[in-house]
Amino acid sequence: MSVQSGESRHRVVVIGSGFGGLFSTQALKNADVDVTLIGRTTHHLFQPLLYQVATGILSVGDIAPATRMVLRKQKNARVLLGEVETIDLENKTVTSNLLERRTVTPFDSLIVAAGAGQSYFGNDHFAEFAPGMKTIDDALELRGRILGAFEQAELSDDPDERTRLLTFVVVGAGPTGVELAGQIAELSRRTLRDAFRHIDSTEARVVLLDGAPDVLPVYGGKLSRKTRQTLERLGVQIQLNAMVTDVDADGLTVKEKDGTERRIESQCKVWSAGVAASPLGKQLAEQSGAEIDRAGRVEVLPDLTLPGYPNVFVIGDMMSLDKLPGLAQVAMQGGKYAAKQVIASVEGQDPAQRPPFRYFDKGSMATISRFSAVAKVGKLEITGFLGWIAWLFVHLLYLVGFSSKVSTLLSWAQAFFSTGRNQMAATEQQVFARIALERVRAAEAEQPQPQPQREVG
Ligand SMILES: Cc1cc2nc3c(=O)[nH]c(=O)nc-3n(C[C@H](O)[C@H](O)[C@H](O)COP(=O)(O)OP(=O)(O)OC[C@H]3O[C@@H](n4cnc5c(N)ncnc54)[C@H](O)[C@@H]3O)c2cc1C
Repeated sequence: MSVQSGESRHRVVVIGSGFGGLFSTQALKNADVDVTLIGRTTHHLFQPLLYQVATGILSVGDIAPATRMVLRKQKNARVLLGEVETIDLENKTVTSNLLERRTVTPFDSLIVAAGAGQSYFGNDHFAEFAPGMKTIDDALELRGRILGAFEQAELSDDPDERTRLLTFVVVGAGPTGVELAGQIAELSRRTLRDAFRHIDSTEARVVLLDGAPDVLPVYGGKLSRKTRQTLERLGVQIQLNAMVTDVDADGLTVKEKDGTERRIESQCKVWSAGVAASPLGKQLAEQSGAEIDRAGRVEVLPDLTLPGYPNVFVIGDMMSLDKLPGLAQVAMQGGKYAAKQVIASVEGQDPAQRPPFRYFDKGSMATISRFSAVAKVGKLEITGFLGWIAWLFVHLLYLVGFSSKVSTLLSWAQAFFSTGRNQMAATEQQVFARIALERVRAAEAEQPQPQPQREVG
């Protein structure tokens, strides 16, 4: 085990290299502090565009720049790769693990931005057959599953099997589900048209399922209606008030509002229905007495800290405050706010004098297909092409790094103005590695632990 002790300056540890972690670290650039960012991935991930990696529009590099490279000119920041396992609030240390190498990092101030993972609402076994979409690995696995289903259908002479292979089911009609269903439909109707000889890719069935009574339920009204119409024009079948009760390799079982159950035969299923905050939240709650909500988010004080720990901030998807949504802007603004409070404390301000965190709602948006998006900014509702232009501008603005912006713009030009997509490669490893790794880990966990060596002499 190594102990990473900082220099004599105030030590800030940031957990997570997502929106909250990166923005708080960057906001500390000119502060008289030493920042250590600990992340379990080597990259910062722009999650809102993951579905475009999954559907062959963007490359991994476009949306996931290496955190170390993003921060290379920020002299007061260093990046440690590792999964944080333990946070000790009393002793002010964070313990992380990289391939059995444990590192203890002491802190004076801590900003926890470990985000959220997929939730299967207690049915974690669904994950084997219906992966979620939270990481680069998820997006690449999904790309392989989607394209692989078309490839297998091309080889099949059995009409029932072909129908199952060409049925794609997206569970969850929030922004991610809507965007993904729209893109799978465009992939099959535009990009893959004429690419196969035995099957007609345009006949693929894309189903978008949700237990709620509408798509994009947080928007409601005109925006939900417009989204439904556009998806249906693309050929997406929308099935609402439908709860998924079982998932297996060949399909899923759906329960209707009236209690009847039916089955959908489908090889390629995607889960975008729920989130669960990082388990680090539970540790923080147990040590500080803070409450956690049903999604595992920590109920923070108005200054985003834990009760009794004015030096420990919990931000972004991990925090629960004033019913703020799990959006990139909430995490970015929370990160900047936390950094500002750390700087004020270092300069001698009493934490009791802190102003509360105020979220400035810049709106939210979702693309449905090329040239069509819905956006809500305050009371303003924008749909169609105008919404799409707004979506394009905002996403380019927040992509990290100039070269990412340029390469993304070029990929979009190709995908939106021609039928081509540049990122259509998929490998067997991308599809099977997750399950294989899980099986290896489960087998290892069942192995008897080695007995401690007895000392001789
Ligand atoms: C598919 C998808 C689409 C989305 N679309 C939109 C959108 O269009 N607009 C929008 O505003 N929001 C969108 N969101 C939500 C938005 O991405 C999140 O709200 C935002 O990323 C939250 O930021 P965060 O910093 O809290 O967490 P994240 O960005 O998730 O970052 C968490 C970081 O912590 C790291 N981490 C986790 N656990 C550990 C650990 N134990 N040790 C070390 N590191 C750890 C992770 O690797 C990651 O780097 C989308 C999310 C997804 C998944």
